[in-house]
Amino acid sequence: TETIIQIDQMKKYYPIGKEKTVKSVDDISIEIKRGETFGLVGESGSGKSTLGKTIVGLEDPTSGKIVYNDLDLSQLNKKQKRQINREIQVIFQDPHASLNPRMRVGDIIAEGIDAHKLATGKNRQDRVYELLERVGLQPEHAKRYPHEFSGGQRQRIGIARALAVEPKFIVADEPISALDVSIQAQVINLLEDLKEQEDLTYLFIAHDLGMVKHISDRIGVMYLGKMMELSDSDELFHDPLHPYTKALLSAIPIANPEAERRERIVLEGDPPSPVDPPSGCRFRTRCPFAMDVCAKEVPEWREVKERHWTACHLYNN
Ligand code: SF4
Ligand code: MG
Repeated sequence: TETIIQIDQMKKYYPIGKEKTVKSVDDISIEIKRGETFGLVGESGSGKSTLGKTIVGLEDPTSGKIVYNDLDLSQLNKKQKRQINREIQVIFQDPHASLNPRMRVGDIIAEGIDAHKLATGKNRQDRVYELLERVGLQPEHAKRYPHEFSGGQRQRIGIARALAVEPKFIVADEPISALDVSIQAQVINLLEDLKEQEDLTYLFIAHDLGMVKHISDRIGVMYLGKMMELSDSDELFHDPLHPYTKALLSAIPIANPEAERRERIVLEGDPPSPVDPPSGCRFRTRCPFAMDVCAKEVPEWREVKERHWTACHLYNN
C-alpha cells in the first residue's frame, strides 16, 4: 500500500524559560498508509496531540520532516499549502470549544466551503444539508446554534465541518474522549462509515487503548515524547511487548479472558515531567522490569517480530 503521511525523525521541542526544554515529540518516525486508521495512544504529556498538530500545520516541527503524498510540508508553495489545508482536516476533542457559539450550524459547516470557494448560494446550502444528513443530523439543524445540541451531536457537526472540504486525511484528536460512553460507539461507527464512503485515512488519537482497538488497523503507543511500541492492532492486543503497553492494557476490562490472557501491570503515579525525562528508557521509573542498563542506554527501536516494533531492553538479544 501507498504511504500518505511519512513522519521522519520528527522532533518538537518547546523552550521553557532560558534553560529548559520540553521534548514533546522526540525523534518519531512513522508512516501512515492510505486508507488505514492509525491509532496513536498515550497518557497526557506523551506528545500524541503535538504530533497531530504538526501534521495539520498548527505547529511546525523543530526538526525532521513530514511528507504528505511526496510533498515535504515545510517546502510548500502557496497553492500547495491551500490544497493541503483542504486535504488534511482535524476533528477536535471538545466539540463545544471548537464550535463558534455565535455562528449558526450551517455557517460553521460551510466555513471551509467558503474559504476554499467550493460553492455559493443554493449549491452551498444544498451541500450543507447533504453534510448534515451524512453525519446523522437534519437539514433544519442548519439554522440552529451549537448550544442547542448534545455533545454527540456537536461532535457530528465538527465532523461535517471537516468533511465539507472533501479531505483525504483526518487527524481525529480524542474525538470521543469528552462524550458519554453510550455515545462513543455511535461516533466511532459514523467515522468508520465515512472512512469507507469517502476513502479517508485517519490518525486517531486517544489516551486509552480501548478507544482505538476496534477502529485502528495499526496502533502506536507513545510515552513522554517517544514511541514505545507499534504493531497491527490485533497483534498489539494479543502479544503486547512493551511493559508500558502491557500496563495500558491492564487498565481496560478484558472482554474475552480466554483469547486475551495477559499479565497485569498496574501503573503507579503520573508520568514524570517531560521537561526532565528519565535517562535511558523514559519508562524506567514506572517499569516493574527495569534493569541497570535501562538507566544507562536508550533502548533501540527494533522490529522484534514481523511488523511489530518496540523500544525495550528486554528484547535486545
Ligand atoms: Fe522497562 Fe527497561 Fe524495557 Fe524500559 S527498557 S520498558 S525500563 S525493561
Ligand atoms: Mg491532548
